[in-house]
Amino acid sequence: MQRLILATRNANKVTELRAILAGAGLSVELVGADAYPDVPDVKESGITFAENALLKAHALARATGLPAVADDSGLCVDVLGGAPGIFSARWAGKHGDDRANLELLLAQLEDITGPHRTAHFACAAALAFPDGRERVVEGRLHGTLRHAPAGEGGFGYDPILQPEGETRTCAEMTPEEKNAISHRGKAFRALAPVIREMLD
Ligand code: IMP
Repeated sequence: MQRLILATRNANKVTELRAILAGAGLSVELVGADAYPDVPDVKESGITFAENALLKAHALARATGLPAVADDSGLCVDVLGGAPGIFSARWAGKHGDDRANLELLLAQLEDITGPHRTAHFACAAALAFPDGRERVVEGRLHGTLRHAPAGEGGFGYDPILQPEGETRTCAEMTPEEKNAISHRGKAFRALAPVIREMLD
């Protein structure tokens, strides 16, 4: 079976993506970057999700000699002109402080009323080969932002994003329900046939 490297050391993400790609009918062996501990982390110096996903995928493909898949994602708030965007993970200053990021965003949007609280999660999923070939696709999940967090599930901004047509936030949905509509689910389901085509 063809081995694909996934540019994350997060075991949950590997499991989630394995399920999405298998569900899309792709039989590849997906392994996390922690199987290759000597590969250095890459600087996310791009200014779009797609650029950052491609940077990560190319670095891993070059270092391992295998096809590599990477994603980059974030929350884009319309009234903030698309911010936090690529800065979503460190909006409050410290990388990965989900609670502080969410609280800062809620404070910034405090006076903004319902109809103007539209936002979307965006995800770019990239595939790169050691010879430099590349493809990138994107997925989005549109919704509105609540005034207060609700739900215990998920991560990041999940407790405040209520998808279009939903009465719950992403943090109140099961992982399966969220995967079915999420930006990441959409991007990776779109990438699956591209992976198949390029591996053939
Ligand atoms: P990453 O680039 O995929 O690690 O995501 C960057 C940041 O975007 C995360 O730290 C979260 O703050 C935010 N984010 C991305 N996807 C989601 C999601 O599905 N739910 C909530 N927050 C997300």
